[in-house]
Amino acid sequence: MNFHVMTLFPEMIENAMAESITGRAIKAGHISLNAVNIRDYSENKHNRVDDYPYGGGAGMVMQAGPVYRCYKDIIRKIESETSPKVIYLSPQGKVFNQDMAAEYAKEENLIFLCGHYEGIDERVLEEIVTDYVSIGDYVLTGGELPALVMMDTISRLVPGVLNNDVSAQTESFTDNLLEYPQYTRPEEWNGKKVPPVLLSGNHKKLAEWYREQSVIRTAMRRPDMIAKAELTDEEKLLAKNVMNSVTD
Ligand code: SAM
Repeated sequence: MNFHVMTLFPEMIENAMAESITGRAIKAGHISLNAVNIRDYSENKHNRVDDYPYGGGAGMVMQAGPVYRCYKDIIRKIESETSPKVIYLSPQGKVFNQDMAAEYAKEENLIFLCGHYEGIDERVLEEIVTDYVSIGDYVLTGGELPALVMMDTISRLVPGVLNNDVSAQTESFTDNLLEYPQYTRPEEWNGKKVPPVLLSGNHKKLAEWYREQSVIRTAMRRPDMIAKAELTDEEKLLAKNVMNSVTD
């Protein structure tokens, strides 16, 4: 997976991605990062890339020209036969989720376009953007944090990035359920004991417990997900009882 990020703040992207799991994945060659400064494509002697909006209104708008030239340069260097997806981070986009991350993880190259100020001239968006993606119904100052959120999530699904690939398959949102609670040593902390089944070594009982806890937790914390999960009749009844007890 090769990430390309069009941004006014490449260091913000590079510094965050250099840490922890993504940093190790870059060093190991499982993912690569190419953060490109849109300002380098300004043709203005002061390196300006924004201007006042036509029609008036608050704030500044990023100009089409520098964004387009930056995009063309990235495309030229990728030399791919197929055009990569270009994701514009925008509060007006489709809200990002785990299924979208799994689809994006199959791509060889992804280009992220980070807006700033009031956004970007619509004409260049029409020209280059394939996907509009939001990370939630709130407005940030720029697209850098959303791009980082997306790249972090997608990276975990790229083979080899996690030491244990199974952990990505059993996490929250897989099968529309949240993950069961986790415990580690000591066996007793603050008077609270680890659930005995976790010490039993009985794999069948463990699997049953994980599944039951996932259903309970999802019903309690994200009842909206339960309708989409594939549950047995017994699990549906359990979820219904949990949801009723929460609203009582
Ligand atoms: N004027 C725009 C509007 O009302 O839709 C908001 C512009 S916002 C201040 C500046 C940039 O931050 C956007 O161009 C976008 O790249 C990014 N951004 C802000 N909120 C976002 C969100 N929830 N998801 C993804 N990107 C976001």
